[in-house]
Amino acid sequence: MDHEERCIVFDIGGTSTRIGLYNSTDRCLERFHKVETPNFIRTGQRDGHEIVNDLMKTLKREAHALAGNAKISGICAAMPAPLSSDGNAWHMPTVLGPYSGGGLNLLQPLRALWPAVPVRLINDVTAAGYLQVAKGSRDFAIVTVGSGIGVKVFLDGVPRVGPNGRGGEIGHLRMMDSFSESFVCDCEGFGHLGSIASGRGSLAVARHMAAENAGVFAASLTGRLSGHQVENLNNEILVHAFLQGDPWAEHAVAASAKYLAQVLAFLHVCLGLEEIVIVGGFAIACGEKYRTLLATLADQYCWNLGQNWHSIVRIEKQPDTVALEGAGYFMTTLDIGKPSTDRIFTFEDAQFHWSRAHNGAADIASARVMRSGAISWIDLVRLPAGSDIGPHTHSTDEEEVYIVIEGRGTMMVEDSHYPVATGDVIHNPSGGTHGLVNDGLNEMRLAVVGLPASHRGEVPATTID
Ligand SMILES: [Zn+2]
Ligand SMILES: [Zn+2]
Repeated sequence: MDHEERCIVFDIGGTSTRIGLYNSTDRCLERFHKVETPNFIRTGQRDGHEIVNDLMKTLKREAHALAGNAKISGICAAMPAPLSSDGNAWHMPTVLGPYSGGGLNLLQPLRALWPAVPVRLINDVTAAGYLQVAKGSRDFAIVTVGSGIGVKVFLDGVPRVGPNGRGGEIGHLRMMDSFSESFVCDCEGFGHLGSIASGRGSLAVARHMAAENAGVFAASLTGRLSGHQVENLNNEILVHAFLQGDPWAEHAVAASAKYLAQVLAFLHVCLGLEEIVIVGGFAIACGEKYRTLLATLADQYCWNLGQNWHSIVRIEKQPDTVALEGAGYFMTTLDIGKPSTDRIFTFEDAQFHWSRAHNGAADIASARVMRSGAISWIDLVRLPAGSDIGPHTHSTDEEEVYIVIEGRGTMMVEDSHYPVATGDVIHNPSGGTHGLVNDGLNEMRLAVVGLPASHRGEVPATTID
């Protein structure tokens, strides 16, 4: 019998929607397919609710086509929209068009389709961030530079969006200088970061500069490739000329990129992030040269604290399935769909391995039986008579709890020593120093629970229920 757990994951885009079957046990996407999104143009519907109804029908049908009667333990949909904690999409112009604004609830209709399993919504940039978490990143910003600009900051592997899901909409930050104010954003605002520094924004800036100084433009490689006509200038020409080293194109792209670089410098000095992952079509097309430009400009905006911007900023090409994989991984972080027996840990069933702990005198055995959720991990630990966990000092961002299940020993906390025995629970604070010696005659057994130092994980908009 198959004990593997699977979730259905959706990546809803303006043009196409991907439907995937994610194996939560092996943490991989087993299969997926793609259909046209029933968006505001295709459906011809005249209000947002009707478009959402059409969308839900499509999701149900396609999920059934993909998974058949396989047992499903969760549903997660990645959406191109900022999401409130109760599942309202604030804006989703690529799907809903003119019916986008005002907060249309998407969670309730999804739950109505799958009432028996947990259902989650996740912003698509957040999903992309979760794929970075799956690869081991903890504290980072993921920045999309495509037709728009989006960002998501992850701290300790959790996206930070605030209680109303407003984090991440950096593309609509108003730049407030005389140059930027002449550019109109998709949202119809003026001087937003996305209207200047996205792929579309870079083209708008380049066209603006070409119109301002037609003679210089006409003499440049970019101008020649555009047939000296501003209206012929497109992203393909701009990127090509930029990569060919045309000084005019380099100047134009830098005039856009400096706004983004300023925001990256702000994120860095504000949060101390040392990892900024740039994704999105425009950034990928401009490649390493664009990365160097952004890093150099960010360095100029930033107070010099010895940081190396060239190691902070990187560009990553993501697979087409990024949102599906990220949404699937996100569901595993919620621990959804695991059978309850997976939550019971016994010394008899655990796989122990023996090693010295913090330069202790003799080997001890430990088995990490869990690593997920709000706690960092649970270890089951066996200390033979005479062995110990050597004195060690924790970093300020982790703490732990020892639970003595069996045996007796001596606990060292800072400079003091205390006898401990079966049933005792010891809190080892962040930044504290402690150790444990089994000076009894029998094996000592402990459960050790590792925790992040303080509960920093305010519930993101994506973990609804
Ligand atoms: Zn805007
Ligand atoms: Zn410790």
